[in-house]
Amino acid sequence: MDRRKHPLNKMHPPLPLAGVTHPQGGRKQPLHRVPSDTRDLLEIYHRLYTAFGPQRWWPAKSRFEMIVGAILTQNTAWKNVEKAIRSLKENAVLHPRAMKEISQSELGLLIRSSGFFNLKAARLKVWIAFLFDEYNGSLSRMFSEEGNRLREKLLAVKGLGPETVDSILLYAGNEPFFVVDAYTRRVFSRHNRIDPNDAYQAVQTFFMDRLPADPLLYNEYHALIVRLSKLFCKKEPTCEACPLHYLFEQDSRPPAVKR
Ligand code: SF4
Repeated sequence: MDRRKHPLNKMHPPLPLAGVTHPQGGRKQPLHRVPSDTRDLLEIYHRLYTAFGPQRWWPAKSRFEMIVGAILTQNTAWKNVEKAIRSLKENAVLHPRAMKEISQSELGLLIRSSGFFNLKAARLKVWIAFLFDEYNGSLSRMFSEEGNRLREKLLAVKGLGPETVDSILLYAGNEPFFVVDAYTRRVFSRHNRIDPNDAYQAVQTFFMDRLPADPLLYNEYHALIVRLSKLFCKKEPTCEACPLHYLFEQDSRPPAVKR
């Protein structure tokens, strides 16, 4: 969308995009970060919670199912993951031992609906090998590991990036690691709390330095950001009805509309 036609420009004079190269060849504009503290982030959380209610993530019946879902959801819609999970259940493969024993090619066929199925089958096999090598196939043993140590070990597993690892730690392990995804970047950079180009770790630190280390809070916060992004903060944002519209008045700045 042409920024000059953005609906928010009816309310605010146009400003240069925050933290991006000006389209007419200018220098990179500095990001004018809006100061944010614990109160700011908790206010955002409470506004979202009041608007949408508890999200009760993760939609899985077991920790193992949750972890498999987190690996399968990379680059695909959740409905495709659900089909793949159903197929694994119907074929009695949604269990550590069964997943260890099935061949990679057979596993790929069962998760076909999730897209990139050969790659994802390989990732599941690497992950399951890690679980058996390190913890004899036991998730309880794995999650008894100290959180930061476990995070380091999971990040070293091929195919598991920080977003997947933190999802596993938070939603299956109940460990307080804030999950950062593209939706988080979009919402909080549009309100100039973060720079969209900040590294994963920097964005995570932004939240974890300001919020109490409470897994339930992190659980709901991330789920609420996803809900917000699907309903309002889409590529073309619909700000006027959005529960975070108050931030514009509070911060007196229009959003950075880089997507
Ligand atoms: S839709 Fe608009 S008001 Fe809502 S979070 Fe996105 S930029 Fe902010």
